[in-house]
Amino acid sequence: MGERNWAGNFEYGAPIARPSSIGELRDIVVGAESVRALGSRHTFNDLADDAGLLVSTAGLPAEIRVDEDARTATVGGGVRYGDVARVLQESGWALHNLASLPHISVAGAIATATHGSGDRNGNLAKAVSGLRILKADGETVELTRTDPEFAGAVVSLGALGVVTEVTLDIEPSFEVRQRLFEKLPWDAVTGHLDDITSAAYSVSLFTTWDEDSVSLAWLKERAGSEAAAQDEFFGARALIEPRHMIPTMDVRNTTEQLGVYGPWSERLAHFRFEFTPSNGEEIQSEYLVPRTRAVEAIEAVRGIAPLIAPLLQVSEIRTVASDDLWLSSAYGTDVVALHFTWFRDQAGVEAILPALEDALLPLGARPHWGKVFLDRAGVVPGLYPKLADFRELVEEFDPTATFRNAFLGRLLD
Ligand SMILES: Cc1cc2nc3c(=O)[nH]c(=O)nc-3n(C[C@H](O)[C@H](O)[C@H](O)COP(=O)(O)OP(=O)(O)OC[C@H]3O[C@@H](n4cnc5c(N)ncnc54)[C@H](O)[C@@H]3O)c2cc1C
Repeated sequence: MGERNWAGNFEYGAPIARPSSIGELRDIVVGAESVRALGSRHTFNDLADDAGLLVSTAGLPAEIRVDEDARTATVGGGVRYGDVARVLQESGWALHNLASLPHISVAGAIATATHGSGDRNGNLAKAVSGLRILKADGETVELTRTDPEFAGAVVSLGALGVVTEVTLDIEPSFEVRQRLFEKLPWDAVTGHLDDITSAAYSVSLFTTWDEDSVSLAWLKERAGSEAAAQDEFFGARALIEPRHMIPTMDVRNTTEQLGVYGPWSERLAHFRFEFTPSNGEEIQSEYLVPRTRAVEAIEAVRGIAPLIAPLLQVSEIRTVASDDLWLSSAYGTDVVALHFTWFRDQAGVEAILPALEDALLPLGARPHWGKVFLDRAGVVPGLYPKLADFRELVEEFDPTATFRNAFLGRLLD
């Protein structure tokens, strides 16, 4: 049996090479007819697979260099966000945001436009100011924001080569506190969505859609900003005990709550870095809908709640600020992300996704590249105005189609 992704729902068909130096990586890539980079394996679909060989970045040198004058950190592509966060915090610096889990690799996360939440926070790829890419012929290309190809190369789906270094914008370290409120009425969500999501630096709403109210509003407030609410938040009550977003899970895996301020590195992710999550018994899907269609999207999902709720562990509603990265799910528009953590029932999930996609894709929702989606009607390529430019960029970087796979074929051919 082949090796599997973190969630265990996908078995890699290709063997995995594990270089421990950039020289070794280069030799492997140059010698391969077909190869894909593999990060921390947190993708839920075939995006990283379908190649003659997978090359893991996990054993490459985990360098993290902080340039205080330039306000950047340059990190190895295989380094995990949790490691970057720890080093930055120790030297008084911060990233603008993190995803829910700090265990994901930097290059793997930006390749799929991974994001956290916050009306004014772009996704993790938006903080990238430079890239070093190893191409199939062994040549290394360095790109910065001033290069015309840059906006196409950050969210790359691994199509251009192996990203060996990423430079990220940093800012002075800051403190954050987390407060949770339970039972947020649906009327408040649909009637005051903008007020709710702008009430804190990062806001997440958790629901199973079939309940009378949204079960949790999870606020991450930056020190020095005005407090959103005290005991009550748009009709939801402040929790006085910590809570996991999935009631049956151990709350000790979550970062500290109850309004205790602490460093950004220990609050912006929902889950603690020091707990190594075991292989998850879950599958994820996510659709990022233009902000102007968000209420329609929420109402549409509520309309099919009886269909999806039996397979659902929990859903999370987040916001992401727009960017100009060609394949970003927030390209050109602020978005509201509707995320679904399913039970690990692949066939069951795939059976209900058509109904979910019929509800969301017509609203312009872009599926998260790294999660399970179907797009049976083939509308997803049409949601990316810069796709033709990306196609040209792929031809230019990888004329031998060494990094091409079935997933990319569905998008580009
Ligand atoms: C528990 C869990 C929580 C998650 N939380 C969030 C969340 O909060 N927000 C969110 O948006 N997503 C989230 N995700 C999804 C996850 O962030 C993405 O799937 C991300 O792409 C995973 O990164 P990875 O390094 O594991 O990538 P992999 O699965 O290893 O690879 C993903 C893609 O990146 C490419 N790639 C990897 N490394 C490189 C490299 N060095 N150079 C070029 N290409 C490369 C691969 O070829 C592949 O195409 C979560 C996933 C899990 C399992």
